Amino acid sequence: MQRRQFNLCLQRSALALALSPWFSATAQPSSVGHKWHTSPFALGVASGRPRADSVVLWTRLLFAEPDRAAAAQAWSVRVEVFADAALKRRVYRAEVATDANRAHSVHVHVTQLQPSTDYWYRFSQGDAHSTVGHTRTAPSRHADVPQLRIALASCQHYEQGQYIAHEDIAKQALDFVLFMGDYIYENSNPQYAIRKHNGDEPKTLQAYRERYEQYKRDPALQAAHAAHPWVLMWDDHEVVNDYANDQDRHYTDPTQMLLRRAAAYQAYFEHQPLLLGPDAHNPANMRLYDQLSWGKLADVWTLDCRQYRSPQACRDPVRGGGRMVVQCDELNDASRTMLGAEQERWLTESLSASKRQWKLVAQATQISSTSVPTPVGRSYWNDAWDGYPEARKRLLQTVVDAKLSNVVTLGGDVHCNVAAPLRLEPNNPASPIIASEFVTTSITSRGLGDKAAALIRESNPDLLHYRSDERGYSLITVTPKEVRCEFRTTKFPAGSEAGLKTQASYVVKNGKAGPQLI
Ligand code: FE
Ligand code: CA
Repeated sequence: MQRRQFNLCLQRSALALALSPWFSATAQPSSVGHKWHTSPFALGVASGRPRADSVVLWTRLLFAEPDRAAAAQAWSVRVEVFADAALKRRVYRAEVATDANRAHSVHVHVTQLQPSTDYWYRFSQGDAHSTVGHTRTAPSRHADVPQLRIALASCQHYEQGQYIAHEDIAKQALDFVLFMGDYIYENSNPQYAIRKHNGDEPKTLQAYRERYEQYKRDPALQAAHAAHPWVLMWDDHEVVNDYANDQDRHYTDPTQMLLRRAAAYQAYFEHQPLLLGPDAHNPANMRLYDQLSWGKLADVWTLDCRQYRSPQACRDPVRGGGRMVVQCDELNDASRTMLGAEQERWLTESLSASKRQWKLVAQATQISSTSVPTPVGRSYWNDAWDGYPEARKRLLQTVVDAKLSNVVTLGGDVHCNVAAPLRLEPNNPASPIIASEFVTTSITSRGLGDKAAALIRESNPDLLHYRSDERGYSLITVTPKEVRCEFRTTKFPAGSEAGLKTQASYVVKNGKAGPQLI
């Protein structure tokens, strides 16, 4: 074992000890049948991780004055699941204990449900009831499924716009929302703030919890959660901008950085409809990456592109993290990784073995190239896959080696709508198109300026569509015939005009790689 690895092991077991209260048993609830002055369900409800026979339901109790003293206690929360919107046919009921060690969050794994079925659910405590949420299970693994409909969303900086995209998402008929990361932002940019974060940049568990609290109070975000199950991935801002594994931009000591990351990961799990993964005993190292199947129609992989990645190549020695790099030999180091060895092996194996018609690979950022020419050579954004070209080659080589057709990658992070063919050699028309990429713009977060976007567009012929000026989300409709992507957008800042419109639509036809404008 190398010294650095040994140090990491030590740090991680120390972290596990420091954070162990979260995983201790919940105290016995000391009170039921409370009369509330203010409803403790102010953060709404959520469902997620849809499977053919199960979903995860979520809420979190919040205690406002004069009920604030209740925060010291353990509480028992009732959850009920119904087969009808009128809440007449109850199919499940349970009492779940929660306490301050988990910020009074409630996670319920409801099993033994029917496939492809709608359910409604609510939580109750004493005389208070939550809003009613709607969820839907996945089809059974061998079902013929006519359609899968997903809203693809990412990057919802609270300060930089109103969540009108979520109002639109809440109204759509969907199977699930696929959130690609940057659910919260730790940072602020007063220049673009139309509303304000409470408090300073979070670094502690308490501060991250308060940041989620502020985001989760937004009624449009609550509506999108109550309307559909969510499938979740994270990117960098759930912890800190441009972090890579145990490195941040300020070269903070990795032990300190991992403590901060563990606090952020814990707050993340506390606020999302997720099950704790197999690494739940170690919050410094939580598995989020996952795979789900949608009948015979599609396999969906949701990847973790932050926790295991190599540091960005050719970092600035003072201010690390993302930047444009030129003449950077480190880019070509084959040992550098975006997914980490274990996740990469898992993805290679399961992708190669997939027998479902469509293979949707959801990853946090952009795979197609956005490099631009300079007098001394091409310049690459080192935080996206352009900064990990050898890892990108391995991912795409898997598609070639396993002779996979109908691979569509989905992404976020770059605050830009992108439709692009994927080739082993980006922008080389002689290199065959082997897969298709859609990247969704941000819900609110500001995009690249027009000049930079135009330069990127004209420098990369593979970018059929590249627009950073508008905010929104993308509707993905998968059928046996095609995968359709509809970019739903509004002006920046979101909320400055009413409603969303369709910026453009693209399809990938069955058996023919590469998006086409329709
Ligand atoms: Fe973002
Ligand atoms: Ca990001």
